[in-house]
Amino acid sequence: MSSPLRRTALVTGASRGIGRAVAAALAARGDRVIGLARSAPDGGFDGEFITADLADPQETERVLVDIARRYSVDILVNNAGMSRATPLDNMKITDVSDMLDMNVRAIVQCTAAVTAGMRERSYGRIVNISSRAAQGKAGRTGYSASKAAVIGATRTWALELAKSGITVNCVAPGPIRTEMWDVNNPPDSPLTRATVASIAVGRLGEPQDVAAAVAYFASEQASFTTGQVLFVCGGSSVGLAAI
Ligand code: NAD
Repeated sequence: MSSPLRRTALVTGASRGIGRAVAAALAARGDRVIGLARSAPDGGFDGEFITADLADPQETERVLVDIARRYSVDILVNNAGMSRATPLDNMKITDVSDMLDMNVRAIVQCTAAVTAGMRERSYGRIVNISSRAAQGKAGRTGYSASKAAVIGATRTWALELAKSGITVNCVAPGPIRTEMWDVNNPPDSPLTRATVASIAVGRLGEPQDVAAAVAYFASEQASFTTGQVLFVCGGSSVGLAAI
């Protein structure tokens, strides 16, 4: 979906994987893209790239103030996230708090930093990246809880911001071939093979599959769509209880 105006998009976690594909899709349709991640991407990046650690609230604040000073952010894609295994009977509790901090606190901070400007201009598109795991995934207490929180925040912000021309939606990917997927799902593990075999469409997703959904929510045309969660998961969420 194209933007008639040149919009400015801030994409977190844009150095690789899903965030990089989102940044490329938005740049390709003409948006000005600001990418943000812990480290710079390999190769070129179509837009400005800023390195910052979103796990550090003070550093996050500093970089967001700088971005707000230099840009009017019209589109925010809260994509950066982390995942560690946390089986209930054998977990490090700090892994859970780290994931809640990174996957929830950081997106709250990023969103709060851009909404004042969006309200002034009566326009904004916020897209949060949750996960199919929000519906439940064995061994992922911290991750699934944090990604379910992303859905709750999406629905709340949609209501708070609806009258200001700002939409807030969520994409919940299923298994997508990225570094995060590979680290958490070694290709030779029987569990990984079983997970891939259970995907209804018969393949892992690619970052571009998610980017296409984000681009829709981030388009001018999506002005009547807010508070929604779109599972981009090859059918992995179908048959599970709705959230
Ligand atoms: P990835 O690990 O390949 O990339 C993560 C990106 O986030 C990188 O750019 C990294 O630098 C950035 N990032 C991570 N921690 C950061 C920090 N502290 N500060 C700044 N940047 C940081 O991951 P991905 O698979 O592309 O995942 C992107 C999003 O999609 C995440 O929120 C993830 O939870 C979600 N997701 C992924 C899958 C999957 O199967 N890959 C499935 C569901 C949801």
